[in-house]
Amino acid sequence: MAIRRILTLEEPVLRERTRKVTTFDVSLHRLLDDMLETMRDAPGIGLAANQVGIGLQIAVIEIDGVLTELINPQIVRRSGEDIDWEGCLSIPGFVAEVARSLKVTVKARDRHGKEFRIKGEELLARALQHEIDHLNGVLYVDYLESLEELVRVGESDSAGDDVREGAVAGI
Ligand code: ZN
Repeated sequence: MAIRRILTLEEPVLRERTRKVTTFDVSLHRLLDDMLETMRDAPGIGLAANQVGIGLQIAVIEIDGVLTELINPQIVRRSGEDIDWEGCLSIPGFVAEVARSLKVTVKARDRHGKEFRIKGEELLARALQHEIDHLNGVLYVDYLESLEELVRVGESDSAGDDVREGAVAGI
């Protein structure tokens, strides 16, 4: 396994729609293993393949020790609304409050090509939406009315709440 460089905001590959995976072979497994190691090293709770420069529909999420590998993921159901702080490994040092669906159901394939569904709510739902956005070239800052809504990690927000590093996971 190897740690790969995480690309940041200005890299064009983060703005491109990724392609579907059609071959579930050892090179895919190696990429997934590298992505997991890169995410853990960051540290973060999610990582999409285009964040390491690979334009394919692949993402990993790890929350509370539960690892989910997503190939060709699609949201098939969503409900409710949840507004919370969100960060991104490709936008280091900043967070913002982002409205997301509270619950989502995602259809995806595993590393062997087998289809599965995963339901998530709150943080897992947020991570699923964030990663699938990445695979469509969308970043969370796209939902902000202004980049002034970004808060530097460690600063206080407008309500005076301290936004601490670690309180907001990088996805
Ligand atoms: Zn991200």
